[in-house]
Amino acid sequence: MGVEKLIKDFEAAAGAENVMTSETDRHAYSYDAAVLDSVLPEVVVRPATSEALGKVTALCNENGLPLTVRGAGTNLSGGTIPHPGGVVVLTNGLNRILEINEADMYAVVEPGVVTATFAAEVARRGLFYPPDPGSQTVSTIGGNVAENAGGLRGLKYGVTKDYVMGLDFWDVNGNLIKSGGRTVKCVTGYNLSGLMVASEGTLGVFDNITLKLIPPAKAAKSMMAIFPSMKAASETVAAIIANKIVPATLEMMDNFTINTVENFRQAGLPTDAAALLLVEVDGHPQEVEEDAAVVEKICKDNQASEIKVAKDAAERDAVWQARRDALPALAKLRPTCVLEDATVPRSKIPDMIQALEEISRKLDLTIGTFGHAGDGNLHPTILTDKRDKHEWERVEKGVDMIFDRALALGGTLSGEHGIGLAKSKYMEMETSKASIDYAHRMKSVLDPKGILNPGKIIGFKK
Ligand SMILES: Cc1cc2nc3c(=O)[nH]c(=O)nc-3n(C[C@H](O)[C@H](O)[C@H](O)COP(=O)(O)OP(=O)(O)OC[C@H]3O[C@@H](n4cnc5c(N)ncnc54)[C@H](O)[C@@H]3O)c2cc1C
Repeated sequence: MGVEKLIKDFEAAAGAENVMTSETDRHAYSYDAAVLDSVLPEVVVRPATSEALGKVTALCNENGLPLTVRGAGTNLSGGTIPHPGGVVVLTNGLNRILEINEADMYAVVEPGVVTATFAAEVARRGLFYPPDPGSQTVSTIGGNVAENAGGLRGLKYGVTKDYVMGLDFWDVNGNLIKSGGRTVKCVTGYNLSGLMVASEGTLGVFDNITLKLIPPAKAAKSMMAIFPSMKAASETVAAIIANKIVPATLEMMDNFTINTVENFRQAGLPTDAAALLLVEVDGHPQEVEEDAAVVEKICKDNQASEIKVAKDAAERDAVWQARRDALPALAKLRPTCVLEDATVPRSKIPDMIQALEEISRKLDLTIGTFGHAGDGNLHPTILTDKRDKHEWERVEKGVDMIFDRALALGGTLSGEHGIGLAKSKYMEMETSKASIDYAHRMKSVLDPKGILNPGKIIGFKK
């Protein structure tokens, strides 16, 4: 049945005020943060209760309508670009923090809760929710779980999957499936929460999510080290880890990014530095002092010309603001910004940096490189103009080369941005045909009509 005949049913399920069909509304949900063509959905529905979310899901399945769940639409891989003729289901009406349990250190949230709002509320209670994607002021917990989002603290504290204790989700038939629990240990049944993490809306529609909380570190120290080359900076990253120090954050910026950030907001960055490392160690005050001293020594041993240690909270914030400015500053330079997140084992960062420099030179592309160097998750950012056909061909080639090189170095297609539509064509390069067939078989059991975010991650069955 066509969507227009179902509007009344969607209105009955979610309320007439939560069903949008105007071209303007449909256009607003036709694209996301990926550099891909937009697709207009037929209808946009905004359930404001769990029950409505389940009913809308079942309605789509009964009528064979492709369903794309959307949090804030900040994903960078086309995960919320709707399927033609499909329905977009928004989760921003489900944005309540249901419980923060200080005694047992967990929280239960609806899927549309904004990440930074949640983290701030948790911090007010003296607890800590570490996953901190750069998009945290707008991204949602549901979107973070569906992408297994990471962030600056991933090196020491892990990523979203490390904090998901339990997950309720709607299956395509509108049954609420409960998985995981609220206890530190829970091995009852299959780990379905684990299956849902990084499933990008292709296996189920998340409802309430139970998240682990931890106590915050008692002390932290941030520093900025200046290097004469990206090679020296990347060798320092490998050396810090090889010395068995795991900083809370270990980020890198190349000269191009440093200058772009400095032009964006004068933060006093050293514009003649070939590379910067931004490091934060945290923990017990004594451990922080010891680790900071070792990190300083390793930086000096690896040619750092200067190391600036933040003296107070304001200086510490300035260091991290500069890092957070990297993407918005780069994105302002050209009309199109292709942010990649190919990731390599940490010991291979120097090789990956070299490869990026070669790709940039060979294809005459502007690539700014920054990222979570400590976990091997670099963000080579190609600045271009998609309207320039010839340049765009070189960009596509450059992206292929980045993935080829990352995989050859034992890395992965995505450290945190997911696969979506953008990278599904590369999946077989990293996994295997058998793995993709297996995933299709699993999907066909859980979603026989293939309505849940069709084409994302594993593409369509051939
Ligand atoms: C400026 C910027 C900085 C970023 N920095 C980072 C970073 O540091 N680390 C990082 O990991 N990512 C980063 N990202 C990418 C993006 O923010 C993350 O992938 C984030 O997790 C997406 O959250 P969202 O709420 O916007 O989800 P959306 O983009 O709306 O959705 C993402 C995926 O989740 C699915 N989904 C959403 N809600 C549900 C649900 N309830 N049930 C089932 N599936 C659902 C969608 O269908 C889609 O496939 C950044 C993006 C931008 C634009």
